[in-house]
Amino acid sequence: MKKSRKQLISRLIAALLCFAALFPLSGCGEAKKTQKEIFAMDTLMTLTAYGKKGEAGLAAAEAVITSMDKMLDPELPTSTVYAINNAQGAAVVVPGQIAKMLSTARTVYDQSGGALDLSIYPLVKRWGFIDGKYYVPTDEEISADMGLLCFDKLVLNSFPSSGSYSVTLPAGGQISFGAVAKGCASDNAIAAMRQAGVTSGIVTLGGNVQTLGLKPDGSNWNVAIQDPNNTASFLGVVSVGETAVITSGSYQRNFTDLRGKTWHHIINPATGYPSSNSLVSVSIICEDGTLADCLSTAMFVLGENKALNYWRTYGGFEMIMVTSDNRIICTKGLIEKFTLSNQSYTLSFSE
Ligand code: AMP
Ligand code: MG
Repeated sequence: MKKSRKQLISRLIAALLCFAALFPLSGCGEAKKTQKEIFAMDTLMTLTAYGKKGEAGLAAAEAVITSMDKMLDPELPTSTVYAINNAQGAAVVVPGQIAKMLSTARTVYDQSGGALDLSIYPLVKRWGFIDGKYYVPTDEEISADMGLLCFDKLVLNSFPSSGSYSVTLPAGGQISFGAVAKGCASDNAIAAMRQAGVTSGIVTLGGNVQTLGLKPDGSNWNVAIQDPNNTASFLGVVSVGETAVITSGSYQRNFTDLRGKTWHHIINPATGYPSSNSLVSVSIICEDGTLADCLSTAMFVLGENKALNYWRTYGGFEMIMVTSDNRIICTKGLIEKFTLSNQSYTLSFSE
């Protein structure tokens, strides 16, 4: 999966920004800090653990992320996702991590009216977001690929006696976990660190952050929210305990066509085109990283008003939405927690 130099540089800046924003705020006191940078899932990741178990914790975290990367790459013939997409309707045995992502994605799919749809992969590919050969498809191509949407027909079977799972996807359908994988990877990385005995740590996977425990001095983490208008900077900081903070944004991956129109990578399954509403980014704060990642993509597609209605109906998370006219709308649980640092935005809290 080749990406343009510009996008890799912008992701590097995003990761450094996250690091730079977190470091001076982390106040790590006497606790030993262990840190590692890895490149996986097409993303620069920074893993940080505090305390004596740090090295073992980071080794375990890196191992789970690397194995997920190999399992989930739809273009890698040895991956589980490749097997699902090429099974021609036959059942494929999958690990629990894939089952968890599929069931969480299915819940969000149902509750959002299909705004998150993992079977959108043929369209994501058609637009060139996988190989970097960007292309504006014709209406015929869009409707052909829309005909391949089949997430509602995917069957996930669980076999409790053996603790195993299988997936059946209709022939011709293709799924990918691009909208979910990083959230699941940060869940698993944090779980691996915890199991290794780490009690305080933080992982940043591109712009996504997940924390373990509190900072070594017992205070909250301060997570910077990237400024979509200036990706080398941040627009505010959210103070959190143990949670995931996961962002979807049109600035994260996009291209400009010959007519000067810019297209981003989050496709509205209802139209086949990149979603087009007032939102430029959505950050979800939720303890479950997998759910947070599903929600970030779904809320981005739903747009401001429907996303707020979703939050009012289902709850279980907090949200920071940024609009193209420089408004920031936070859900009310963030009133004491979000601090604006860029005064060119107007901030409001929603009930
Ligand atoms: P995220 O950054 O978590 O919002 O995920 C965006 C990625 O998910 C894209 O780069 C695509 O690979 C994939 N994707 C795009 N649109 C959708 C969608 N509506 N539902 C599911 N996956 C999507
Ligand atoms: Mg997502």
